[in-house]
This record gives sequence, structure tokens and C-alpha cells, in this order.
Amino acid sequence: MKLADSPITEHNFNGHPFYLKRDDLLHPEFSGNKARKFMALLETDSPNVTTLIGYGSPQANSLYSLAALAKLKSWTLEFYVSHIPNWLKQNPIGNYQAALELGAQIIDISQLETELSPHDYIERIRKPNEQCIFVPEGGRSPIAEFGIKQLAEEILCWVQEENIKALTVALPSGTGTTALYLHKHLALHNIHVLTCACVGGKDYLIKQFESLGEAEHPHILTSLEKSKHQFGKLYAADYQMWQSLTQQTQVEFDLLYDPYMWQCLAPYLAQWRESHSNQTLLYIHQGGLLGNTSMAKRYQRKYSL
Ligand SMILES: *Cc1c(COP(=O)(O)O)cnc(C)c1O
Repeated sequence: MKLADSPITEHNFNGHPFYLKRDDLLHPEFSGNKARKFMALLETDSPNVTTLIGYGSPQANSLYSLAALAKLKSWTLEFYVSHIPNWLKQNPIGNYQAALELGAQIIDISQLETELSPHDYIERIRKPNEQCIFVPEGGRSPIAEFGIKQLAEEILCWVQEENIKALTVALPSGTGTTALYLHKHLALHNIHVLTCACVGGKDYLIKQFESLGEAEHPHILTSLEKSKHQFGKLYAADYQMWQSLTQQTQVEFDLLYDPYMWQCLAPYLAQWRESHSNQTLLYIHQGGLLGNTSMAKRYQRKYSL
């Protein structure tokens, strides 16, 4: 099984034309950023494997994507979390609910007699054997390069077909794995990659890039706000940005990463306009829409919308 060639659509935001690579439409279940990153696991034959093991937040996009991958491969997913909030257990929604429906085993280690983190619990107690594939949190791993290289190749084909002269690609970063490998495979074709740090700030993101062993990094934009953008925290400006994006493009964007990226892009695009830049913008839609249900609920509660 092979997933490829997500469509590219054309839009306008606040007077600025841009193209959108619709990785949210790669596959009904296995789509977006995590599908690209785990693509190598989908396409590689691994006859001895029975179990996929991961860890992270019970609301993470990676939980749902790993559950979808496990189902496609007839594997079992064991996903270790440090805690499941009561409200979520009682009313499962979003990635958590969808992963449960796909048969994921979500193991709350606060219920076990251990002081270990999920990562250490897996390594020291669960001890994955040769029938298991153990994926690092958020897919921050060199195995991600395979699928992201394919994304880069799809972009290069489109650039040729459409005869695009000067391209800039933009996407927000969590671990930075996607932006880093896109940069690696696009820079030699003179395509710029812009990103922003949605988790932990610019210094953290640079450390993540370095941990993957690549010397050349994509350009990190920051917003005009001085304070660092905290992951998962609610910002009125983010919600407004998200609503404007949906209104102007008729496309639902992700609520966790995309609004901050567009805030960082705004001054950059204003400069393009001033300098009459001939750059074409391609924004990568990295999916994550299932996670929007719980984020939107939190926003509505906080701001009484
Ligand atoms: C995981 C994820 C990201 C971040 O990707 P990194 O490769 O970790 O930088 C961005 N957007 C969505 C929707 C994601 O699920």
C-alpha cells in the first residue's frame, strides 16, 4: 500500500495568494504529518512484527495515526500515556476516541505501580522485542525522512508542471522533523522552507534539528509578540486567526499549530508585498483535524463563544 499525491489547492488569505498542499486529504484515516512520518512503516514489509509501541499525550495526533497504521497493517497498538484526564475518560473525543475505535490499547501508567516516564517504562519494563516496533514521541526519528522525502518529490513535480519560478514552502513545527527533512530535500532546488516553533521556542527547535544530525536547518520565523508561544495553551489571537483562515479559504486548518504559523508569516508576507517579491507561497496542511474537536471545545468554554 502506498499513499501519495495529495492535491494542491489555490487560496487567498488577507490579500495574499497562496497554494495549499492538502496532506489532510492523503487518506481517510491515515493522513497528515504523522502519516508522512510513519510512511516507511506502512510500506516496508515486516512479517515478524505484531505490535506497534508508542507514547505521548492521550490527545496527540500521533496516537490516532499510529492506531490507523496498526489497523492497516493488522498490528496491535500499545500507546503509553502518563495520565488520562477524567473528563476525557468519561467523554472520549477527538484523537483519543478515534484511536479507541480503531482498537488501540491506551495504557495509563499512572494506574500502574511505577515512577517511570512512559518512555522509560517501555524501555525498562515493557522491553520491546523483535516483534515490536517502538516509535519515538511525535515521530522524531530518522525513519521519518523516507515519507517526507516523498512529500518533497511531490512538491518538485508540481513546481515543474506549473512552471513555478521561485517557491517558498511554509509549515509549523513541533519536533521540527518535517520542516528539517523538507529543507534537506528542497534546498538544493532553491526552494526556501520557513517554519516556526510551536513547542518550546526557537532554541528548543534548533536543538531538535541538531539531534537529528543535519547541519543545514530551515529558517525559523518568530511572531511580533515577545513571549514564547506555549504548546496547547489557548490564545484569543490563535482562535481569531483560525476562524479567519476558515472563512477566507473554506478549508479547516489545524487549531494547535497553524494559527501561530500564520501569525509569524503575516509580517513576512507584508515584506514580500512591499518589495514586489515574485515568490510563490506553498503552505503544507499537515492534518490534525480530529484534534480540533477538543481544542475548539476548550476555546468555546474559555471565551464563552
Ligand atoms: C505532528 C504535527 C506537526 C508537527 O510536526 P513536526 O514534524 O513534529 O514538526 C504539525 N502539524 C500537525 C497537524 C501535526 O500533527
